[in-house]
Amino acid sequence: MSTESLAGRRVLITGGSRGLGRAIATAIGHAGGEPILAARSADQLSIAVEQLRADGTSASSVVADLSDRRDIDALVSRVCRAGLHGVVHAAGIQHRAAASEFSDADFARVLGVNLIAPFTLARELVTADRHSTLTSQVFIGSLGSSIAIPRAVAYSAAKSGLLGLARTLATEWAPRGVRANVLSPGYFHTELTDDLLSDSEQRARITSRIPMGRLGRPDELGGPAVFLLCDASSYVTGQQLVVDGGWLGS
Ligand code: NAD
Repeated sequence: MSTESLAGRRVLITGGSRGLGRAIATAIGHAGGEPILAARSADQLSIAVEQLRADGTSASSVVADLSDRRDIDALVSRVCRAGLHGVVHAAGIQHRAAASEFSDADFARVLGVNLIAPFTLARELVTADRHSTLTSQVFIGSLGSSIAIPRAVAYSAAKSGLLGLARTLATEWAPRGVRANVLSPGYFHTELTDDLLSDSEQRARITSRIPMGRLGRPDELGGPAVFLLCDASSYVTGQQLVVDGGWLGS
């Protein structure tokens, strides 16, 4: 991969306003690509776009709440007009509670953003891609795609579901030239994990499970994301790439 591996290619990143999505957008810019960020907060999006532009990246944004089907349709018609090369489905939410106390509403809300919205968006983007410019869809999984995360039953179910989703889309869409893979981060300190990782005991417990002995830095997810988006991975589809400091392999 080079600094030109995504040259001139437009990539949509949901949840691109902050955290891991934002770090991936930065890496896409460094690879010559043009990130389009989608998230709920107009303020956070404009700060992120300003910083990417200051870094020399041609970035833009669209405000969208992916739990609202009308926003997904509006997002697709905005981003497909000029041709899209790839999409990173990074928007995600967490809700922590014991499974026996998890409400139907919370379960549906987490599945809605973390599993149903990525599927709907993926399908609508492929349907709208009349000039067949879209070649790579990357779904952001988790350790919960492969192992249990106690007190996060809906999150684990959704992230496990992304593996089945990506494998099936990869198989059905291979003839169209669209690849689908899952990029699964281990533990990174972002707003999503702040409640857990700000607690020194929990942080020490988690870090002790990581062979590399530390949390991931958001920029360490950028290279793997660019790999899955660019031609260096042109024969890779239906796979999970885990970026976790060694946890799952240990
Ligand atoms: P974060 O909370 O910092 O960012 C989440 C992003 O998703 C934000 O931009 C937010 O606006 C967006 N989002 C949430 N709900 C949305 C909705 N309804 N519509 C549109 N956008 C919405 O969290 P993060 O840690 O950067 O998480 C990014 C992805 O990485 C998520 O899918 C998360 O599950 C996954 N992940 C994170 C970690 C970690 O350790 N931080 C580990 C594994 C997986």
